Amino acid sequence: MKFANIIVDISLEKLDRTFQYRIPEELQDILKEGMQVRVPFGNGGRILTGYVLELTDNCEWDEGKLKPILGLAEKGIRLEGQLIALAAWMRRTYGSTMNQALKTVLPVKKSVQEKISREVRLAVPREEAEAVLAEMERKHQTARVRILKALLEQASLDYAEAQKALGLTAATARKLTELGLIRIESDTIFRNPIRPSEVQAHPFALYPAQQAIVDDVAARAAAGDLRPSLIHGVTGSGKTEVYMELIASVLEQGKEAIVLIPEIALTFQTVLRFYRRFGDQVSIIHSKLSAGERYDQFERARRGGVKVMIGPRSALFTPFSHLGVIVIDEEHEGSYKSENAPRYHAREAAVERARMCGAFVVLGSATPSVDSYERAREGVYQLYELPLRIENRAMPETEVVDLREELRMGNRSVFSARLKELMEERLRKGGQIMLFLNRRGYAGFVSCRACGHVIKCPHCDVSLSLHHGGRMVCHYCGYQTQAPKKCPSCGSVYIGAFRAGTQQVAEAAAKAFPGARILRMDFDTTRQKGGHERILEAFSRKQADILVGTQMIVKGHDFPGVTLVGVLAADLSLYAGDYRAAERTFQLLVQAAGRAGRGDTPGVAVIQTYSPDHYSIETAAAQDYQAFFEKEMAFRRMMNYPPAAHLMALYLMSEDEEALNRGAERLKVLAAAHTRKEIVLIGPSDPGLSKLKDIYRKVLYLKCTEIAYLTEWKEWLEAELPKEKLLSTFNIQFDMDPVNPF
Ligand code: ADP
Ligand code: ZN
Ligand code: ZN
Repeated sequence: MKFANIIVDISLEKLDRTFQYRIPEELQDILKEGMQVRVPFGNGGRILTGYVLELTDNCEWDEGKLKPILGLAEKGIRLEGQLIALAAWMRRTYGSTMNQALKTVLPVKKSVQEKISREVRLAVPREEAEAVLAEMERKHQTARVRILKALLEQASLDYAEAQKALGLTAATARKLTELGLIRIESDTIFRNPIRPSEVQAHPFALYPAQQAIVDDVAARAAAGDLRPSLIHGVTGSGKTEVYMELIASVLEQGKEAIVLIPEIALTFQTVLRFYRRFGDQVSIIHSKLSAGERYDQFERARRGGVKVMIGPRSALFTPFSHLGVIVIDEEHEGSYKSENAPRYHAREAAVERARMCGAFVVLGSATPSVDSYERAREGVYQLYELPLRIENRAMPETEVVDLREELRMGNRSVFSARLKELMEERLRKGGQIMLFLNRRGYAGFVSCRACGHVIKCPHCDVSLSLHHGGRMVCHYCGYQTQAPKKCPSCGSVYIGAFRAGTQQVAEAAAKAFPGARILRMDFDTTRQKGGHERILEAFSRKQADILVGTQMIVKGHDFPGVTLVGVLAADLSLYAGDYRAAERTFQLLVQAAGRAGRGDTPGVAVIQTYSPDHYSIETAAAQDYQAFFEKEMAFRRMMNYPPAAHLMALYLMSEDEEALNRGAERLKVLAAAHTRKEIVLIGPSDPGLSKLKDIYRKVLYLKCTEIAYLTEWKEWLEAELPKEKLLSTFNIQFDMDPVNPF
């Protein structure tokens, strides 16, 4: 490469500006993205240090006038440089300002006062402390006894809390320290949000199928093959144990690990397993930590106080300087896609970060994303399969109930006759039941309850969404039509919007099963802090017989008492109106079924649907991932949806509806003139929510098999924006290969 784009001062507000420099001969083979270099700046002979963001052969200026890089500011790439290079990659790939990308990647320094805390710890082995304790008790040295007893129960005490709660005085502390019994450590507060209790002494010996994966990953790494691994393993097949074993070997080499999980509140049991295995080396960040607390966690990691960081997608940016592995559990989860610019996918960003520092990536899921599975099939990822549960525990049985048939029998309740029968039986036996409403998306779709016919866009093959006034709209291309009064397929009048809420279901359950104790878990009931935990906790303590909820209830948590899962209307997510609807439905159904029978009794999952013949329902009922994947890939290929092609969305937002409409029209005209023929332009049209918090929204889609063309288009538009007055009247966000409906 001949040129380098360099950012000279990351503390400037105007971070977007990079400067181009010539790469001198002697740096040709050495220079890498993220390195710190010295460069001449301006005409005053100033020399600044900057970070290399990009190496390129494209000269953006007059080649003769470009100044050369003077030299490396230091050998190698410092952590910060690496994260900055990652930010540059994110900006390029997903579209955002450099400022937004850097803020995403670098922890925001909080000028919170660094509080000094003191921790009291035992300085002798337990047995010794216990021996001294007996002695002290005889001598009635009650103050000392209190402290030692507390320390035998807890690994450490906060000094200030011990003063308050245990009456710890300076004299007692001094005396115990002099006796060599305790140690008082003062440090800036970078406290672990969780205090580990006991650490598991001996991890399980892995089963051969698990060990084979661990061995193969190690052998590949030794041979320099750092391709990401994808572990496709049913729930309970032992994936988490494999992750932990891989992490253990990374820690042995003195390196660090990042574990991404979808949402801590829902996967707390998994987090605790990591604590039990790795003790105090583990820490978590989660969405409810304040910015300051998050910064603390990152700072602990930077200083080497944490070796394993667990968290949602932002944990990916943990400032480890010897990162060895990034694990992404439930890699198919939509929450790994950021909903703010840059709208990065944590899976892709993880692969990029790992590439930069020679770490390896391990993805795991019972229902891998179609994207990842396709990559595995192409050999970009290495695939591992764990098709059986540990100790061959039974998989749940599934039954599909055809709701059209129910209507024909005159049953218009939310419970089919079969589900009702099974519920009665389980309640009689004291078993627990989960009722699950896989609601997704915003507007309802229009379907016929007599024949199951769903009205779809003739151009995009996704369902139309019902808007005000009986208007049905395609969220991709904007196609509109009036909702029919009669089913175009069978002529029935039972056609209309399909809507259902958890509250209605809970009420229906209360009416159908008087005396049953019912809990509801949805957005409303979990709004307060700790809302999830409280509900899940109560249910796992068997304080309720039936738990009604949205997708929140099917993730993570084990409820051994649950022997029946009812999916009330699988169609709710199936017709969400976006190209991933079938994939999401398959994943939700398999997960929901997986909730039934985690204990000793095999469970049953009942899937109610108006579309029993839809491939995502048939394959989910059969728990046949392969079959699902084949059908889904055929659909994606036929329609040129990712991963068969790339789809870039442009979200246009404005408070001024008029300006948005005019700007969108202008964009359409401009784009039509500037778009290469390989790119298909769709829209602009109205998204699922055409107005949110008083902001009007429109979407433009671009489809193309070559991601480079889309990136080029994006850069063209970014350069065009400041010049075009009409386009500056709204906000634009790019979304490459969108995952969640806008
Ligand atoms: P997954 O992550 O695929 O859902 P887990 O790793 O949670 O699977 O394993 C399922 C269950 O089997 C857990 O209770 C786990 O403790 C247990 N388990 C996993 N591997 C072993 C092993 N090698 N020996 C004994 N028990 C195991
Ligand atoms: Zn019909
Ligand atoms: Zn359409």
